[in-house]
Amino acid sequence: LKFKEVGIQSPVLESVEAMGYETTTPIQEQAIPIILNGKDLIACAQTGTGKTAAFLLPTIQQIQAQEDHGSIDALVIVPTRELAIQIDQQIQGLGYFVNISSLAIYGGGDGTSWDVQKKALVNGANVIIATPGRLIAHLNQEYVDLSKVKHFILDEADRMLDMGFYDDIKKIMEGLPAKRQNLMFSATMPPKMRKLAKEVLNEPEELNI
Ligand code: AMP
Repeated sequence: LKFKEVGIQSPVLESVEAMGYETTTPIQEQAIPIILNGKDLIACAQTGTGKTAAFLLPTIQQIQAQEDHGSIDALVIVPTRELAIQIDQQIQGLGYFVNISSLAIYGGGDGTSWDVQKKALVNGANVIIATPGRLIAHLNQEYVDLSKVKHFILDEADRMLDMGFYDDIKKIMEGLPAKRQNLMFSATMPPKMRKLAKEVLNEPEELNI
């Protein structure tokens, strides 16, 4: 389908066209209308299916339409710094014609990156993409305000569980408001994923691509 047919509108539509995406992939066709509807979603989808744009496009469009902005509107939690950087870059592209700010938060950088990340977190950004451990380290310093987050996204959730991030994810959720949209993406759906899904999601739609 065309992105317009799944509910993507100007100015996000112009950014999609500028990226050279002409038609939706199957996960995008199915996930975008659900997300634009404000529903929670759990999706089983592999890398390479276009899953990143499937959650970024409707999230960017909802943030763009929103009148009351908090210091952080959307929080994306990912297993690795590489994925955080990649998603941040996709937001720059898919949000090119939209006034939206994003910031990747991850560990393992040089000594200055902590202060750069801290300063940016204090100032806030529409979308934060973070690895769990580094975000917790910032949260412990109490200058991060997650109380206005409207979109909470777990990407490659099964990998995060394999890496032992369950407790960190639960800890991060403590700072979130009760009323929010939750999206969860995973390549596999083992029982421990089902357990996490129950704790994160509220009457979710389910997709299996
Ligand atoms: P992902 O599965 O999110 O890692 O995306 C895989 C690749 O597909 C990325 O390089 C995207 O830029 C690209 N992509 C995503 N959606 C589309 C689309 N609708 N048309 C063409 N390329 C796409």
